[in-house]
Amino acid sequence: MTPTSAPEQSEEIVARLRAACRTGRYRSLEWRTEQLTRLRALLRDHVEDFAAALHTDLRKSRTEAYAAEIGFTIREIDHILVNLAEWLRPVPVAVTGCPPGSTAHLQYDPLGVVLVMAPWNYPVQLLLVPVAGALAAGNAVVAKPSEVAPACSALLARLIPRYLDTDAVAVVEGGVAEATALLAQRFDHVFYTGNGVVGRIVMRAAAEHLTPVTLELGGKSPVFVDRGTSLADTAARLARAKFANAGQTCVAPDYVLTDPETARALEVELARSLEKLFGTEPQASRGYGRIINARHFDRIVRLLDSGRIVVGGSHDRESRYIAPTVLAEVRADSPVMQEEIFGPVLPIVEVSGVDEAITFINERDKPLAVYGFTASTEIRRRLAEETASGSLVLGLPMAQVLDPGLPFGGVGQSGMGSYRGAHSLAAFSHRKTVLDVPER
Ligand code: NAD
Repeated sequence: MTPTSAPEQSEEIVARLRAACRTGRYRSLEWRTEQLTRLRALLRDHVEDFAAALHTDLRKSRTEAYAAEIGFTIREIDHILVNLAEWLRPVPVAVTGCPPGSTAHLQYDPLGVVLVMAPWNYPVQLLLVPVAGALAAGNAVVAKPSEVAPACSALLARLIPRYLDTDAVAVVEGGVAEATALLAQRFDHVFYTGNGVVGRIVMRAAAEHLTPVTLELGGKSPVFVDRGTSLADTAARLARAKFANAGQTCVAPDYVLTDPETARALEVELARSLEKLFGTEPQASRGYGRIINARHFDRIVRLLDSGRIVVGGSHDRESRYIAPTVLAEVRADSPVMQEEIFGPVLPIVEVSGVDEAITFINERDKPLAVYGFTASTEIRRRLAEETASGSLVLGLPMAQVLDPGLPFGGVGQSGMGSYRGAHSLAAFSHRKTVLDVPER
């Protein structure tokens, strides 16, 4: 098949995959393992091509491209391959309340044909990690890369049909028209990563067919920095997480909550950390990315006067460069605090202490992550029990994505459902009860 498909082809593609699915061919462990092995080979054989495409779309450095996209996805596939047979083993359940001699087990059944829609910010990882999960679960997949990262989209569309079973995996490139045409089809699951506005469109379209969805959305992930934490280390960890991919990461720390005294000291340490990471001229640093397009550039630049600029603030529209920027004394009603920033701007909002920080977090949408830096066991406990978020990470922002064994997902406005490793198998399967009652 041709990698790029016109909207009217959606129906035909889904019908073709569904017919192939009915043969039951994709159920076997051998088929799943083979597809995953091929997907890993696709990445290993084309490391340089992916690095180049990621550089074109987002000016990602080769190191970041490998760590966060290519190698990241390979590690996920390795993890699935090592464990899949074990995960698929039926789980016996003790039966009570049925005639004597009855036995029961739970088994993971493939769902059928699933749709995976990816965003542009980690365009390789966020398409292929869910695709790996869908294949591990024995499904056929329509993979829709983001048109906003065109070099990666084109590369994925060119390579996937060369490596994977084309009766089981189809790539549909394109934008809103193609996505809309796809969403009109009946899928057995839709896995969408992106913003909440489109998340609602996806969920509405899926509801027409009673299709379940996984929504991996975004939000404003806060960081609480407690009085008395080691600020040099905190700033270094915070800066690395916030300014990776020029802040265009769903789990990037969005803003800092801390007391005024800690805020002053943290400002100084953040400026130092940024210099260590990107030098005195981040524009010349090979490790620093660019904003994806002019629309996002303009949106982020409008946020720059939301507070006192501690460091950064400069920008260049032509190259879509925005300096890593720290804003101090930011008010809760300022523009930068109204929406997910999704760019290299880190506001520091002052609160009196942990009580006010927890209230501040709970007055807003449930974020994808809450981050905390504190030596206090009591405050760690309170953050765990008194705030709600996709994940809570103490000590190292974004570390929750490093381990393929940890389920990744949001809650409330930051999404529904989770995936990675065994959790992807659960997301893309139906856990079926098989009950066997003996004849009299
Ligand atoms: P995007 O614009 O690339 O959109 C994502 C997908 O939706 C694309 O495939 C696109 O074609 C499709 N789409 C766009 N408009 C549509 C429409 N009207 N109808 C149907 N489909 C449509 O990406 P984005 O939404 O700008 O991505 C950024 C957002 O994603 C941020 O909010 C970020 O936090 C979130 N995000 C979340 C995660 C996560 O894992 N939770 C990861 C990355 C990004």
